[in-house]
Amino acid sequence: MTLDNILEEIKNAENIVVLTHESPDGDAIGSTLAMKLALKKMGKNADAIITEFPRIFKFLPGAKEVKTEIEPKKYDLAISLDCADLKRLVGRDLFENATKTIVIDHHGSNAMYGDINFVNPVAPACCEILIGMLEYFDISIDSEIGSDILAGIITDTGGFKYSSVTAETFEFTAELLRKGVNVSEIYERVLETKTRANFELLKRSMDRLELLEDGRVAFTYITQKDLKEVNAEPGDHEGIVENGRSIEGVKISILLRQRDEGDNIYKISMRSTSGNINVSDICYVFGGGGHPKAAGATIQGTVEEIKEKLLREIRKTEQWKH
Ligand code: 5GP
Ligand code: MN
Repeated sequence: MTLDNILEEIKNAENIVVLTHESPDGDAIGSTLAMKLALKKMGKNADAIITEFPRIFKFLPGAKEVKTEIEPKKYDLAISLDCADLKRLVGRDLFENATKTIVIDHHGSNAMYGDINFVNPVAPACCEILIGMLEYFDISIDSEIGSDILAGIITDTGGFKYSSVTAETFEFTAELLRKGVNVSEIYERVLETKTRANFELLKRSMDRLELLEDGRVAFTYITQKDLKEVNAEPGDHEGIVENGRSIEGVKISILLRQRDEGDNIYKISMRSTSGNINVSDICYVFGGGGHPKAAGATIQGTVEEIKEKLLREIRKTEQWKH
């Protein structure tokens, strides 16, 4: 079975690299750190690479041992975590040049680009997949690995509140509490703490938020000028798109983030409420993907052009007509 194959590849490898997606969120960071620490317990000194490490996650166990630069090297094994698509993987060359590759993910839109693919689209977080995997490998989840895993679960479930949460999510959290892990502190640090720049971006984007389509779409954007003026660092846009979704009557919330100064390329973040509109399908039309209720893509055009393109696709979906 796949888990046995993964274990065998890990045992056989001398040099391992652990990679994750661009603009890493809590689940990307948490799963990368947990995997690095777990490999250490298996006697493997793996390289974990995160080039844009958001400040708020720097307290997590293992964060200091992460490499922040990509150096060319031939690895026996590359492990990709929480990344649906090879083109979003940071360190893609290292992955493509590795002798063996493993993909561990929870996106339904995963392109299955590894030699071994372990993808569970019903897992609320990639971190939750690691719980069962490490148990199967007989690696005990200590409070350090547990804290990293919990950080990923908390961020990807919006603090245990999304419909993706499972009984296992709570059982695992209860187990960590019993081990003495300060769950509420991790919760506060990864979900309830805004950097100043995040707060300033939130103010600007809420100020220019538009309610479209009879209040069913919340739309806003952030430019590179905004990001510069508030001294934004990687991750400082996280969570903003969720604010549009929580407005009564809104079915879809959209945030555009300009990629580079002067260009007309925007990173799109889309969120939907429990009205069954699959934003991953909408983003897929533009070469992106994600989850049914949280997805993204990169689109070319001005803010107005992109707004129209997205609204056209939204109106086409069956669920929108009802
Ligand atoms: P976010 O809006 O937080 O950047 O991303 C929401 C979800 O959509 C995440 O699960 C993320 O991995 C996925 N996602 C965001 N952008 C893209 C993209 O360009 N391509 C794909 N395949 N998934 C994306
Ligand atoms: Mn994730």
